Amino acid sequence: MKLAKRVSALTPSSTLAITAKAKELKAAGHDVIGLGAGEPDFNTPAHILEAAEKAMNEGHTKYTPSGGLASLKTAIAQKFKDDQGLEYKSNEIIVCSGAKHALYTLFQVLLDEGDEVIIPTPYWVSYPEQVKLAQGVPVYVEGFESNQFKITPEQLEATVTNKTRAVIINSPSNPTGMIYSREELEAIGEVCLKHDLLIVSDEIYEKLVYGGEKHVSIAEISPQLKEQTIIINGVSKSHSMTGWRIGYAAGNEEIIKAMTNLASHSTSNPTSVAQYASIAAYNGTQEPVEIMRQAFEERLNIMYDKLVAVPGFTCIKPQGAFYLFPNAIEAARLTGFENVDQWVEAILEEEKVALVPGSGFGSPENVRLSYATSLDLLERAIDRISHFMDRHM
Ligand code: PLP
Repeated sequence: MKLAKRVSALTPSSTLAITAKAKELKAAGHDVIGLGAGEPDFNTPAHILEAAEKAMNEGHTKYTPSGGLASLKTAIAQKFKDDQGLEYKSNEIIVCSGAKHALYTLFQVLLDEGDEVIIPTPYWVSYPEQVKLAQGVPVYVEGFESNQFKITPEQLEATVTNKTRAVIINSPSNPTGMIYSREELEAIGEVCLKHDLLIVSDEIYEKLVYGGEKHVSIAEISPQLKEQTIIINGVSKSHSMTGWRIGYAAGNEEIIKAMTNLASHSTSNPTSVAQYASIAAYNGTQEPVEIMRQAFEERLNIMYDKLVAVPGFTCIKPQGAFYLFPNAIEAARLTGFENVDQWVEAILEEEKVALVPGSGFGSPENVRLSYATSLDLLERAIDRISHFMDRHM
């Protein structure tokens, strides 16, 4: 079948692919431990479920405004005010079907053919594909492990061309878990202002920060940077609501208006009931968010110590999100594999532990382990990896 050029080169999401493979093995009766998932393992908090039920029973099951319910936008605006001290009007916010869809819509309205978007590596798998789908060109800047996988203002400056339209900052980062400090963001922001670059600030892991770290949005540094930034966020990771598909973008009114027009011809609106659930997520108690954060932090601390004890692994301790991103090239070589991709495949085959190879994130020497699963399973997974190493070394 002849398919459009723009999708023929599209690679499927490696994280979703590994999760699907693990589920397939599980369905076939294998005792698989999946560390590929990018979603919290907790159920959505009860008061949010109740709000959804109430919305359904009250008949809120119809189309909503394309850019989202006014009351949800108000709740989101309040969240920005409380958390970042940022003021957004309702016409500066669009609610989409997940943060992924907010990003997709943004690139569609922002890019013309050949426009460049700077993407720091390691990156979340969907950024390059979404940029390409909008006929843009992803331009990579390597975040070196020695700099906690973060890019420097000098690197950014050296990468800007007259075609550069935007730069993506994802802090806390998927897959590395690293956080940009206020000072680092200030320095990067200066380069963006100098070259009039739009900053796409993906803050979906904002609430998951550890060790007393604080999330800073680049938009809160100065009014000029706020003008220049589109913040992407959502309830998926913070409120364990991945399946509800509610995310949003906030920033320049003209961009938001174009995104809303596009949404009116593509999705019409995000699911009505999920929007009501999200209002409860923001207006209700934030206690469950903190309880989940603490559980993730406990797992991180236990898992990190166990992981660095595995031969051939080196790992920077993450400060946020729910992933560990160790360098595993030495572990692969010690066990006779040429690269980490093959090593990951062998671990799934022989030990039934699903990891995500770093190649999908633009970092082929690394591997991503999600700790969004129970401690018991996490500990068993590390035991299996150690068992694999013992048998092959
Ligand atoms: N941005 C990053 C960095 C992510 O890791 C994810 C989900 O994995 C998303 C955005 C998308 O989130 P949502 O579920 O709201 O579409």
